[in-house]
Amino acid sequence: MSATATAERVFNFSAGPAALPLPVLQEVQDELLCYPGAGASVMELSHRGKVFIDIMEQAEASIRSLLNISDDYAVLMLQGGAALQFSMIPANLLRDSGKSAQYLLTGAWGKKAIGEAKKEGTVDIAYSAAESNFDRVPTAGDYQTDDNAAYLYYCSNETIQGVQFQSEPQTGADVPLISDASSDFLSRPLDINKYGLLYACAQKNAGPAGVTVVIIRRDLLERGSESLPGYLNYKNHASNGSMWNTPPTFPIYVLGKVAKWLQNDIGGLETMEAQNRAKSALLYGTIDKHPEFYLGHAQTDCRSMMNVTFNLPNEELLGQFVAEASKQNLQNLKGHRSVGGIRASIYNAMPHEGAQALASFMDDFANKNG
Ligand SMILES: *Cc1c(COP(=O)(O)O)cnc(C)c1O
Repeated sequence: MSATATAERVFNFSAGPAALPLPVLQEVQDELLCYPGAGASVMELSHRGKVFIDIMEQAEASIRSLLNISDDYAVLMLQGGAALQFSMIPANLLRDSGKSAQYLLTGAWGKKAIGEAKKEGTVDIAYSAAESNFDRVPTAGDYQTDDNAAYLYYCSNETIQGVQFQSEPQTGADVPLISDASSDFLSRPLDINKYGLLYACAQKNAGPAGVTVVIIRRDLLERGSESLPGYLNYKNHASNGSMWNTPPTFPIYVLGKVAKWLQNDIGGLETMEAQNRAKSALLYGTIDKHPEFYLGHAQTDCRSMMNVTFNLPNEELLGQFVAEASKQNLQNLKGHRSVGGIRASIYNAMPHEGAQALASFMDDFANKNG
């Protein structure tokens, strides 16, 4: 990357597609015209050739190693984004099951998932935080589990509202737990054995848009009906190593590099989590320091480590905050149109200095205008 291009990079608080680690971008740049030994760009290689198959296998191996995923699970790399999973999950696991599926509704993405699931079968919204404007997640006892449910679905981190589960929710006995982990995938260790299926689109915390990782317990592969459209049946992807059709080769290549960066540069997910905690503590600490001025959206014990959401006393100050921050190279801080306010997304690739710069800007801004 030219020195000018690197120097012009801002602290990018975009919720997604979001910042990528600079060393990853630099490697991609180095290899863009000619992947080492291939004589062509990754984008120009057959997905069935040895070079790309190696890239894909390495990407999968890195993800398996980071999350300690056993062979009881298939790791799929699909297209269609997280949104297609809203439909694929109930199409495979709810349709014609004679059961209902439990959903925990804690924000905008869960709501969309429920809308799609209703097209496939009966949905039991076991918990909803709608009444408190999605500022919290449930604790055990806030809802009833159903031992006969097809699965229990939740979104581990609601990207728009900035609320996050600190641990897995309760399910009925032997009911598969399903998680939309799009915006906190690879941000912290987790025990994959607690899940039936966990998925994430890459463009928040793991790579560019275009690939969605689906980790599915192999016994669940048998539940999809043969009459499903081929692309929608998980079994087709699992039995063809995610090459039932042409996979998104370039996004998979970058995803693999991000996973390698997590392994080698960061040193694994425990270290990554510690860094993410430190970054989010800086921002929440600043919010708490000025409680009359910064109005945090999430209840304290449900605060997201990835998306920090808060409001200011009025629209005028909000506009001023965004404009002044932007002048200091702190960009893409405007909250989602449905929630308003500020949203600072501080995924894995946001350096500590970025969170520090924002925290000190917030401190100054509150002292000047509070
Ligand atoms: C961004 C996001 C989605 C939607 O992802 P697409 O790839 O645009 O379909 C779904 N769930 C969560 C938690 C997200 O952050």
